[in-house]
Amino acid sequence: MNKKGLLVVYTGCSGVGKGTIMKEMLQKESSLRLSVSATTRDPRPGETHGKEYFFVSREEFKEMINNNKFLEYAQYADNFYGTPKDAVEEMLNQGLNVILEIEVQGGLQVLEKCPDCLSIFIVPPSMEELENRLRGRGTEPNDVIEKRMEAAKTEMTFTNRYDYVVMNDKVDTAVEEIISLIKKEQDKRNS
Ligand code: 5GP
Repeated sequence: MNKKGLLVVYTGCSGVGKGTIMKEMLQKESSLRLSVSATTRDPRPGETHGKEYFFVSREEFKEMINNNKFLEYAQYADNFYGTPKDAVEEMLNQGLNVILEIEVQGGLQVLEKCPDCLSIFIVPPSMEELENRLRGRGTEPNDVIEKRMEAAKTEMTFTNRYDYVVMNDKVDTAVEEIISLIKKEQDKRNS
C-alpha cells in the first residue's frame, strides 16, 4: 500500500503571489497536487470550471456545506471558497502530496482538523508592495482591492499560527524555499 501523502496548507494574503509561486512549484515537483476549490465568485477571463476552481452558485455552495463536502470553507471578500474533502483524501491515500492554496481563516480550520499537516504562510516584502501587486494585476476594481487590503492587515496577524513564514520577494527563491521545506518534512516523517 502507498504511504499517505503530505497535506500542505499554503496561505498568505490575496495578491502576495501565491498563484505564481504555485505554478512553478507544480512544474518542478511531480508528486505535488493542487486541490481545486469550489467558489461562488465569478470566473476571471481565462479561468475554466474545474481547472482554477469549481464555479458554483451560492445555493450549490450551501448544499455542499449541508452535505459535509468541505474540509474547510470560508467567506472572503463577499464570496465563499471551500476545499472539497473527498478529492483531497483520495489524493493523499494515493501517496500524493496535496497542497491547499487557501486564505488564512480556512487555513486555520485545516490546522485544527489536521494538526499533522505542514503549514506555510507567504508574506509580501511590505504592505505597500502588496497593494502595488494587487493594483498591477488589474483584475479587481478599486473597492475590491480596498477590501482585500483590509483583509490582508488582519490576515498578517495570524502568521505565528503557521509552521513557516516565507517572504515572496523573488519568486524563484520562494519556490526553492517551499520545495525544500516540503522535502525536509517528508524526510523527517520517513526517518
Ligand atoms: P481569488 O478570488 O483571488 O482566486 O481567491 C481569494 C482568496 O481565496 C485567496 O487568498 C485564495 O487563496 C483563497 N482561496 C481559494 N480557494 C480557497 C478555499 O478552498 N478555501 C479557502 N478558505 N480559501 C480559498
